[in-house]
Amino acid sequence: MSDTHECIFCSIVAGTLPNFTVYEDHNFLAFLDVFPRVKGHALVIPKEHYRWVYDVPNFGAYWEVAKKVGEKLQQSLGSEFISYITMGNEVPHAHIHVLPQQTNKVEGFTLSSVVNMSKEEMKKLASSINNI
Ligand SMILES: [Zn+2]
Repeated sequence: MSDTHECIFCSIVAGTLPNFTVYEDHNFLAFLDVFPRVKGHALVIPKEHYRWVYDVPNFGAYWEVAKKVGEKLQQSLGSEFISYITMGNEVPHAHIHVLPQQTNKVEGFTLSSVVNMSKEEMKKLASSINNI
């Protein structure tokens, strides 16, 4: 945990910044992103300040909440499917983006271009990961 001073998401949890809540329980809060990339774009955050999604101690429960939020959005918007994304560099408080998708095309974020890796490099990498 780090200093929560000036953290925009901590301010939302504290109620000092208004938000459009779509889900809340004892540990987590979900609200509509004020800069939506698609209609219904929501963010799911732990109420306690953690830097990264994987720093949240109840990681599995966190993702269960994200799934619940996705199902609510899908029901409300009649979405085709839901994209769940974590990047973490935009706000330094753990958050999962939940993006309802209206067509079979993914909207709201783009992947970078493919990096070149030889089969040999990939084999070495997989092997080194397997040996951890
Ligand atoms: Zn925070």
